[in-house]
Amino acid sequence: MKRILVLAISLAALAGCGQSAERKPPEVKLYAMECGRIHVTDADAFADDGSFAGQAHDLVDPCYLIRHPDGDLLWDSGLPDLLNEQVDGVTQGPFQLSMPTKLAAQLAQLDLAPGDIDYISFSHSHFDHLGNAALFVSATWLVDPDERAHMFRPEARADAQFASYSALENFRQRAIEGEGDFDVFGDGSVIIVQTPGHTPGHAILRVNLTHAGPVLLTGDLWHLTESRARRTVPRFNTDRAQTLASMDKVEALARATGALVIRQHVPQDFAGLPKFPEALN
Ligand SMILES: [Zn+2]
Repeated sequence: MKRILVLAISLAALAGCGQSAERKPPEVKLYAMECGRIHVTDADAFADDGSFAGQAHDLVDPCYLIRHPDGDLLWDSGLPDLLNEQVDGVTQGPFQLSMPTKLAAQLAQLDLAPGDIDYISFSHSHFDHLGNAALFVSATWLVDPDERAHMFRPEARADAQFASYSALENFRQRAIEGEGDFDVFGDGSVIIVQTPGHTPGHAILRVNLTHAGPVLLTGDLWHLTESRARRTVPRFNTDRAQTLASMDKVEALARATGALVIRQHVPQDFAGLPKFPEALN
C-alpha cells in the first residue's frame, strides 16, 4: 500500500513537472516610448467638479511597445510625428503640444519599422493617443466595436482630428466583443481589459511580465497625479457612472494582482519605467 502511494506521488510529481514546463510563461518585454509632451495651462477640463481649475500641469504622452514571441503590439500611438517639425510645438486651447522625438525614429532604435508591428490597439480614441495610427497600416487593429462606432460616427467624421486616424477604417481588424477581457496572444500574458466611460470603448492593458510582474497601463482613467485619489471625472467624458465603475474595477484588479499601476499621462509613473530603449521584462 505504501509503495503504491509513493509511486502515485512520484507520478503526480512527474506530471506536475511536465505541466510547469509546458506553462513556462513567454518572455514578454514592455518598452515605454515618449510620444509627445503636453503642457496644460489650465487643467479645469480634467475634473467636472472644478478640482483643477486654473492649475497648470505637465503631462507625458507615451506609446508602449509590447514584444511577445508571437508578435509585437503597439498600445497607443501618441501625438503625430509631424509635430516634431514644429520647433515650438503647437497650441490647441489650453494644451501646448510638442513631439521631441518621432515614434518612427524610436522604433528604428530597435531595428523596427512601422510595417513590422503586428497589432495596434488604443486605450481610447482621443487625438493624443491616435496621432501616428496611419503609420501602422500593416498591423491588425484590435478594437471594441463601441469605440469604432464612436470614432466613425458622422460628428467625428466632420471633426478636424478625423484625418489623423481615418486610415484605420480600412485596417485589418479584430473585434473585442462583449464586456470581458481580450487575451491578445491567447496565453494570458497581454490582456485588454475593458474600462468604458471616458469613451464608449475605453480600455486598459494588463501585461504580465516574468520578472516585474503584472503592469496595468491605465489609459486616461486618471489624467493627473491627483485624479486617482480624488476619483475625478473629466468634463470631456461619455458616461460618468461607467467611468467611476471602471475606476473601481481597476482598483480591485490592482489590489488582487499587486500590479504596478501606470497612469499614462503622469510624468512620475512614466519616469519609473526603464528609459527607452531599455525594457521592463
Ligand atoms: Zn490622453
